[in-house]
Amino acid sequence: MKKFFIALVFSIILLFVTTNQEAYSWGFFAHKKINRMAVFTLPEGMIGFYKHHIEYISEHAVDPDKRRYANPDEAPRHYIDMDKYGKYAYDSVPHKWKDAVNKYSEDTLKAYGIVPWYIEKMLSRLTEAFRTENMDLILHYSADLGHYIADSHVPLHTTSNYNGQFTNQKGIHGFWESRIPELKSEGYDYWVGKAKYIDKPIEKAWSTVKASNAALDSVLKFEEKLNAKYSPDKKYSFENRGKTLIKVYSVEYTSEYNKMLNGMVEHRMRAAILTVGSMWYTAWVNAGKPNLDKFDNKEISDSLKQFNKAEEQLKNDTNKEVKGHND
Ligand SMILES: [Zn+2]
Repeated sequence: MKKFFIALVFSIILLFVTTNQEAYSWGFFAHKKINRMAVFTLPEGMIGFYKHHIEYISEHAVDPDKRRYANPDEAPRHYIDMDKYGKYAYDSVPHKWKDAVNKYSEDTLKAYGIVPWYIEKMLSRLTEAFRTENMDLILHYSADLGHYIADSHVPLHTTSNYNGQFTNQKGIHGFWESRIPELKSEGYDYWVGKAKYIDKPIEKAWSTVKASNAALDSVLKFEEKLNAKYSPDKKYSFENRGKTLIKVYSVEYTSEYNKMLNGMVEHRMRAAILTVGSMWYTAWVNAGKPNLDKFDNKEISDSLKQFNKAEEQLKNDTNKEVKGHND
């Protein structure tokens, strides 16, 4: 019995370790899915190349989250705490990076998160990669850009109360973005139509943040309402993951919450897929639509493999302390 108890405590500790590591953005599943499905929004001239490398684009959708352990500058790129800027943040925060730096200072912006501006930065790097026809960098930045865009579609990535820690709802981050997709995504419709050219990418990034932030109230209020109706033994359950017993939001509780959200998670995921495809497309057009067919039979070069390996190593070697949107 004692042994079982020790095992149980250990497992629960493990659960929190795991949840913390994945609690930064869409669960790994959703990130990979978003990048993968974005490939199918692309037009002729692009889709062949992206399909050829679809495994890379999907697998590396989660690199920026892994990088957080190794790079202290990484964390703020995944979110923006709109509440820190007051009630009318969307209007009061300058949308252009330089104007925002002048108004608040770079340190302040970094302290509250920089996701919309970082999307713009990644887009220009991807554009440059297309312009110079550097296949490795096209793949690398496409995967990265997809990640940050996907994060900006998550309501809890637009608030300092990112894990419900100020409203007694700790765990809601992973609940919304990992547990719901895990249980419900099979029925999602991932066909979102064709990628569209984006005239003003920075404005698109900001309107995404605005829409995510507008949904935040429902994300928190609905869970609060539901929580009042459930006892903890009904709210949570235990599931086996490999050899580990972990505490999770119960299937019933997840289904109820998902019903109250009325398809919100699916909608945000679909919006993310279309925006990712559209941003890739925009970068390609702005670079003069380079012919990607010439890469058709080329595989990822050794240098990119080396780079990925080095990043992986760095992550493993580094202390797991992460600042920003972490407990
Ligand atoms: Zn992230």
